[in-house]
Amino acid sequence: MDTECPCGSGTPYVACCGPFHGGVPAPTAAQLMRSRYCAFVLGDAAYLLATWDPAMRPTSMEFDPAVQWRRLRIRGMTGGGEADATGTVEFVAHFWNAARGQYGRQHENSRFVRQGRRWFYVDAAPD
Ligand SMILES: [Zn+2]
Repeated sequence: MDTECPCGSGTPYVACCGPFHGGVPAPTAAQLMRSRYCAFVLGDAAYLLATWDPAMRPTSMEFDPAVQWRRLRIRGMTGGGEADATGTVEFVAHFWNAARGQYGRQHENSRFVRQGRRWFYVDAAPD
């Protein structure tokens, strides 16, 4: 896939989220966030589970087939760099719900934790 990455970075998939989906650790929380959004677009449940904090990880996950993810907007972040142990990434993900015939958006301030060289999604920070 040398088409533009579904995360909306403007970079080809093979040079953006592709390597992370292939097992390369995402160096920052923001890159993990983008690659997880991208995994939602591609329906890659294994990647979403593998990058979930083991203490918080569900045993399985299902995708709503009516939901088509369209666009990711990163609104802000704290920490999450290569020298940080924790980080947050605030984002808005836009989707089309084909069953309802409606556009929708998911707004979340996600919390991330680094364990060794790998970042993991923890949960959504309370408002
Ligand atoms: Zn990407």
